[in-house]
Amino acid sequence: MKNKRILWRTLGVFAVIALIGFAVASCEVEGGGSGHDCQRQGCRFVWVTYPVPSCTSSGMRTESCRYCENTGRAQTMLSLGCSFGDWEEVTPVTCEANGLRTRTCIRCEYIYQNVLHMLGHNWSDLIVLRQPTPTVLGLGKTECIRTFCLLERYYSIPYGGGPI
Ligand SMILES: [Zn+2]
Ligand SMILES: [Zn+2]
Ligand SMILES: [Zn+2]
Repeated sequence: MKNKRILWRTLGVFAVIALIGFAVASCEVEGGGSGHDCQRQGCRFVWVTYPVPSCTSSGMRTESCRYCENTGRAQTMLSLGCSFGDWEEVTPVTCEANGLRTRTCIRCEYIYQNVLHMLGHNWSDLIVLRQPTPTVLGLGKTECIRTFCLLERYYSIPYGGGPI
């Protein structure tokens, strides 16, 4: 019983000391950090990021004491990767020519280029414009059905042979 009371009293004293210590430390932190004793009160670490990670390079953050030169844990920060905006059409792709579109990173302004390979014509079925006769070749045409192209090609149709 007696020992227990002494124990509680001791704990109480420690609690008071701890509270005072905390209050002093808090004041010091708010007051700008002068007078903090790292040896006695322990270091106060804050994360400091250097170098800051970029789109393509990794960064580092280190726990640094506000009051002395001590450092704690260090962590590598992965590179962020680019964040691209919407595609912008530079050159439209056509049946016979490659197109080009770009996207720009909103952070580092790196321009990503994407070549769009030419589509090739998409020919319609042969349309017979004039049936062949024994003396005159027939005439047919096909048309690229892509609306931005609509290229036409004409063909001769020999008599009796069907369309070529
Ligand atoms: Zn320190
Ligand atoms: Zn970027
Ligand atoms: Zn075409």
